Amino acid sequence: MNESADRTAYQMALDQIDAAAPHLDVDPALIARLRLADKEITIHFPVKREDGRVEMMTGIRVQHNNARGPYKGGIRYHPRVDLDEVRALAMWMTWKAGVVNIPFGGSKGGVICDTKQMTLKEIENLTRRFTWELAPLIGPDRDIPAPDVYTNPQVMAWIMDTYSILKGHTVTGVVTGKPLELGGSLGRFEATGKGVVITALEAARVLGLEPQGLRVVVQGAGNVGGVAARYFERNGASIIAISDSQGGVYNPAGLDCAAALSCKNQYSCFIGQHAGGDEITNEELLELDCDVLIPAALGGVITADNAPRIKARIVAEGANGPTTPAADRILVDNGVTVVPDILANAGGVTVSYFEWVQNLQNLLWNEAEIHQRLESILKNAFAEVHRIATDQGLDLRTAALVLGIERVARAIQIRGTYP
Ligand code: NAD
Repeated sequence: MNESADRTAYQMALDQIDAAAPHLDVDPALIARLRLADKEITIHFPVKREDGRVEMMTGIRVQHNNARGPYKGGIRYHPRVDLDEVRALAMWMTWKAGVVNIPFGGSKGGVICDTKQMTLKEIENLTRRFTWELAPLIGPDRDIPAPDVYTNPQVMAWIMDTYSILKGHTVTGVVTGKPLELGGSLGRFEATGKGVVITALEAARVLGLEPQGLRVVVQGAGNVGGVAARYFERNGASIIAISDSQGGVYNPAGLDCAAALSCKNQYSCFIGQHAGGDEITNEELLELDCDVLIPAALGGVITADNAPRIKARIVAEGANGPTTPAADRILVDNGVTVVPDILANAGGVTVSYFEWVQNLQNLLWNEAEIHQRLESILKNAFAEVHRIATDQGLDLRTAALVLGIERVARAIQIRGTYP
């Protein structure tokens, strides 16, 4: 999955390091080290189906780097997840935690499965067995999973419960993105989508654009895309198109976001459901005339092929790795401001950090505190990235990579190499 015409997700991640390398004040030996993950684990495990059959499934966990703190990264359930993609996603987590200056490293996980063809009980069986297999490698001080594509707070609850049973006591800090009843943080569900909006609005401000009346297009109506659409609308923008895996709905005069999303919730899709506009394919949606485009589904969707036709002034990357390096160069040449994934979607890991801190200390912060801390961290990170971009004449992605990679490299250097 995530293959652009010629580059896999991991090759894309390496291309990004190569693009940042000339601007980094880092020993090349350290860059060579950071091109590889610390650990890559593939696990084949049995899952009981409701009809009694036992099916073998494959799960992956990649722990990229933990120089600055425990590994941290989501788990996705998807039919086309593979080691190459998980490697890239784990590396991006390391840079992301560096960009927002949070004391975590980077990891990622996935299970090859199609949850749309599974019952809830089967998803629970899969989750519990995968957690049991992963248990020696994860933990609040070791590696902390979180939700990603097609995993959610319920899945996190099963991970937390299984891990706690193994330990003999409740360990809330082993995962983030949990339900509120089990130590989840207020504001975590909204954090990634809100963060996309906060950073996109910073980019708009730099370009001299007001939030009011911005025309916004969102690909993906899940956790990230759905929240980003609603929060952008609350900030005065007009959502003109939104989609899910089957296609989307488009209204140049602006959709009623709440109505479109509740239509999607009711019928599980936008297509054929009179969601307040014309039907549109995911490919057409990316090329709509708009101010802000938010790819918030899968990676590798903006390629050298469609990049010349992207009309947005700002692309705010809700998804991880939605833009291939070749497309990136085209967008930059065409004057499109790309707020890169490792900055735009860092709201999730930021509030995951708040959740972990609250769990470890048995604290409970209120929603206003969470929002204020989130906004302050993301605005600071945007300002730092923007300053590096301006000082060194770089685009925002390269500047964010410089910030993230240098922070991680410095930590490795200060710790030294054992033995
Ligand atoms: P989700 O499962 O809640 O939602 C995914 C959405 O994408 C769904 O609406 C689905 O219908 C849609 N989709 C799936 N395949 C598609 C396709 N081919 N074309 C268009 N739409 C498609 O997942 P999420 O948590 O919202 O994650 C979305 C993206 O954001 C992923 O790339 C993920 O890695 C990234 N991300 C998520 C978080 C988080 O906190 N959840 C944090 C950082 C980054």
